[in-house]
Amino acid sequence: MFINSTESRFLLKIIRPYKWMMALLVFCILLATMFDGISVGLTVPLLASLQMMESPEGLPAVMAWLFQLLSSFQDTYQILIGIIAVVIALLFKNIMLAINSMLALMLSTRIAATLKNEALNMMMSVRIDYHHKSPVGELMMSALTATSQVGMLVDSIAKALSNLLTIWALVTLMLILSWQLFLISILFGAIYFALTSRYIKTLKAPSRELTQLSKLAYNTLQESLSGIELVKSYGREPWVLDKMGQQIEKIRELELRVKFRSQVPSWATDVAGGIVIALLFFAGILIYDLEAPDLLVILIPFLYIIIRLVPLLATLNQNKARIVTLWPMLGLVSELLNPDDKKFIKDGDVTFHGLKHGITFKDVAFAYENREIPAVRNLNFTIPKRKTTAIVGRSGAGKSTLVNLLLRYFDCQEGELLIDDVPLRLIGLKSYRQKISVVSQETVIFNDTVRNNIAFGGEVASHSELEEAARKAGAYEFICKLENGFDTLLGERGAYLSGGQRQRISIARAFLKNPDILILDEATSSLDSFSETEIYNNLELLKTNRTVIVISHRLSTIKGADKIIVLKDGQVIETGTEHELLGLRGEYFSLSQGHKE
Ligand code: ADP
Repeated sequence: MFINSTESRFLLKIIRPYKWMMALLVFCILLATMFDGISVGLTVPLLASLQMMESPEGLPAVMAWLFQLLSSFQDTYQILIGIIAVVIALLFKNIMLAINSMLALMLSTRIAATLKNEALNMMMSVRIDYHHKSPVGELMMSALTATSQVGMLVDSIAKALSNLLTIWALVTLMLILSWQLFLISILFGAIYFALTSRYIKTLKAPSRELTQLSKLAYNTLQESLSGIELVKSYGREPWVLDKMGQQIEKIRELELRVKFRSQVPSWATDVAGGIVIALLFFAGILIYDLEAPDLLVILIPFLYIIIRLVPLLATLNQNKARIVTLWPMLGLVSELLNPDDKKFIKDGDVTFHGLKHGITFKDVAFAYENREIPAVRNLNFTIPKRKTTAIVGRSGAGKSTLVNLLLRYFDCQEGELLIDDVPLRLIGLKSYRQKISVVSQETVIFNDTVRNNIAFGGEVASHSELEEAARKAGAYEFICKLENGFDTLLGERGAYLSGGQRQRISIARAFLKNPDILILDEATSSLDSFSETEIYNNLELLKTNRTVIVISHRLSTIKGADKIIVLKDGQVIETGTEHELLGLRGEYFSLSQGHKE
């Protein structure tokens, strides 16, 4: 059913590293099966000794040996020894089953954890545009929920394997006991197997649909929560509730259908088992002579095996149904972990120690995927070391794209971006990004303490370093006034802070990182003019002794820049100092006029 699909290949790939654990698991099942076989096999000589009879004719060698072994004891001890042996065999069987269960759980939880780590690694290393097109809710479902369910799938496979092996052993015993009854049972077994397999297949489509719907629900919830302010300000809560409510209802309907249907085969197994037992009873009486003492010795163990088989078949079916319903999760995880359909930024191996002369754009052009017109082209300019260079232009001119190239979120398709004389492609990403900081209008604050937000996973900073960074950013005073100072939790996306305070935290973060290159990307655009003026001096302090690139469409923020580069439609149209550009009476002049209006 699943052979050779992407999912099955992925499953084999994730199980492969654990082949020894799988082998141990199978070994335990085999041992458990052997002990099970012994316990069932022993019932034949036990029953015979109850009836004080000799070994029946035509018994298979193993059984005859057990007979001989038991009859070597004195009559009075035979039953006692037989019963003790059955109990010991059952005990060992269950010890093996417990070990097997533990191994299956260890395997499944380890696979789930490994997949989670791989998913997180993938999300951290893939090129940034993957995140722009993949809904966060979907990624969270694949990385956290689907990986756990793949673990459960592996557990179900291990259990189904254990069921299968035990069933196989019991069926072999049936053949040993009576080939006639065996044939009848196998005929019924084959019909039963064909019917249930067909039925279980019908679970495939609704399970896939359920996975798709869950993905959708994760996305809707994530989007509604991240835009909760918008939802509330527009009074759209009923709309969100209605949309989610419809998805929840569809999920409920499907879950009901899938879960109910997956139980049907196990109920059917019980009924079918009862019918087979009745049939075998009559068949046994017909095949064997009613008077013959062998009848009970053969029939009772045979029926005992069938009674043992029925619940095993039921759990096998349950496990098969679980495998079918969890199978689509493999698709989600393999999709996320598949590197072939994703783009990555190739790391370079030249360590960056700091800028020596400047950054040079040489004939740089870049177009986003699926866009015919390049976002930037023919870029030829230099950003000198320890000077402030401003990049200005109207919305859509290509300023953010330029920042994306500078941070190496993307590689330029034409030309070369040189850091001193080394192409940026060849520089180690870690060493480069350690020396570059961006303060942008979108301040990112994590639901963590002030301390951790400023340190932000960087090298461990002492309290005095943190304090100094906060002071320079003008954040120290308000931090001290917070309930727990530097240990105050800032709430989801810094909800407990004002816009200006959030910006100061991000400036403190930049101070602590002490970058060589500083990018101010519309850093104060989202602030009111009062906060902007207040923050201005702190930003000036941050700019001291660094190579600064100021991106802005508001000319007030670029006062004092050593060099201004004006972009229009992705191209540089003017370069110079403010005085020179105003004199040109071109784009910059027109921008400045617009700004005054
Ligand atoms: P600016 O920052 O000056 O407003 P951008 O660099 O954001 O300009 O945009 C330059 C051009 O590239 C615009 O035409 C914009 O539509 C396009 N663009 C920006 N980001 C993307 C993206 N992620 N995918 C496709 N096109 C984009």
